Amino acid sequence: MAEPGSAGRERKAARDVRIRVGHLYPDYLNIYADRGNIAVLARRAALRGHELSVAPVSVGDTLRPGEHDLLYVGGGQDREQALIAPDLAGKGAAILEAAAGGAAVLAVCGGYQLLGRGYHDRHGGDLPGVGLFAHETVAGERRMIGDVLLECELERGEQRSLAGFENHAGRTRLDPGAEPLGRVVAGFGNDGESGYEGCRVGRAVGTYLHGPLLPRNPWLADWLLAQALAHASGGDAPELEPLPDRLEARAHAVSAQRARDRGGRF
Ligand code: GLN
Repeated sequence: MAEPGSAGRERKAARDVRIRVGHLYPDYLNIYADRGNIAVLARRAALRGHELSVAPVSVGDTLRPGEHDLLYVGGGQDREQALIAPDLAGKGAAILEAAAGGAAVLAVCGGYQLLGRGYHDRHGGDLPGVGLFAHETVAGERRMIGDVLLECELERGEQRSLAGFENHAGRTRLDPGAEPLGRVVAGFGNDGESGYEGCRVGRAVGTYLHGPLLPRNPWLADWLLAQALAHASGGDAPELEPLPDRLEARAHAVSAQRARDRGGRF
């Protein structure tokens, strides 16, 4: 058996991996700087010698499990969600199979809602979901808008903070035992009551945070890239070379402070 240190160095040295991203419904779910999140993934992959190849997967397209190392689904209003929900539900089995096969997933806001069991909107509409995340969402009277700060621990013993902005009418209730993405330090989170935000299942993460999310939380971009690389290469998630991230750290600090100062509140 290889000595752990050398295996680690080998994993770090791997370059030239093509990371295949399936961008779900970029023509419908795109209002929360979703292209910015993809741009961050592409740039941070390139700086480590990898190539991100992004393929749109929209209404009428076939999603083949195993063809993507990372699935991305962005945010949209109720109207756009209603337009794509039946098609997305039809892709549900493929999405579950992809995630069970170790593909990474990032779902933001409207996409996060629809990767749960469903969304009951303000007009009595019931949108079917995919059931990847163990939650249901019901729209409330007042929108939950404001800066958010979370404490996360995606890897045991590694506490990280996530800063962003939320804007949603939906109240998302996690099933008992479902793993949230983080604990709310400031802001509303999933439902304004539970103290939790987002959901995590293996390499799949869903969240209400946008603003956009990844430029000010580069650790999450790297975590997703590492999971996607693990799927692409069939091994463990590699350690990525650190990047300077000075501007990113400042953006995070400003956003975190805004959340601490006024957070989301009615
Ligand atoms: N329809 C969702 C909600 O308002 C999606 C979020 C959004 O459009 N801002 O809860």
